[in-house]
Amino acid sequence: MMAQVKHIEKVLFSDEVIAERVGQLGSEITSDFSGDSESPVFVGVATGACLFLADLVRRIELPIAIDYIRAESYGSGTVSNGLPRISFDLKLDITNKHVVLVEDIVDTGNTLSCLIEHLKLKKASSVSVCTLLDKPSRRKVHFKLLGSGKFYSGFECPDEFVVGYGMDFAEQYRNLSYIGVLKPEYYM
Ligand code: 5GP
Ligand code: MG
Ligand code: MG
Repeated sequence: MMAQVKHIEKVLFSDEVIAERVGQLGSEITSDFSGDSESPVFVGVATGACLFLADLVRRIELPIAIDYIRAESYGSGTVSNGLPRISFDLKLDITNKHVVLVEDIVDTGNTLSCLIEHLKLKKASSVSVCTLLDKPSRRKVHFKLLGSGKFYSGFECPDEFVVGYGMDFAEQYRNLSYIGVLKPEYYM
């Protein structure tokens, strides 16, 4: 961890700031879903959402199920190739279930739009999205939520490539407990 810390140019979202916002999102989702008889399925988008999912579900005061899905569009660089594919699918049957897709960050929207289409075909009754970060300035695809689904976003992120709290550059830095930007010499 020490070596990684030296690679960070600036911290954008500290542990404390993240924890507080995750708590708020948990309360909001808990109250939005508390009237439903069916317990929602939280689907983490691997691998980036791993830490966010783990922290978020502990702030949900409802019975829920947890599953994972994986969509890949990034190589090891910082620019999406725009054509995500599902490379690891759900274990659970989500027919007639409310799904909350848990993402680390929404950038162009390509990944979410592909995932939402996929969950529609699997007959989810609604699809909500809970993303920790959103870069609305970079949106290329306008994705549509399903049914009564809502969009939850932790923070608006500046147009910079960020790492930490689950997010990687070339599979490194996911284990940082905060979110930051690397020194330019490490984006290589
Ligand atoms: P999109 O399909 O919306 O363009 O990109 C979504 C995925 O790309 C995110 O779930 C995330 O895995 C990755 N991504 C987008 N922006 C960033 C970023 O700033 N840092 C990192 N580490 N990954 C990003
Ligand atoms: Mg992701
Ligand atoms: Mg990545």
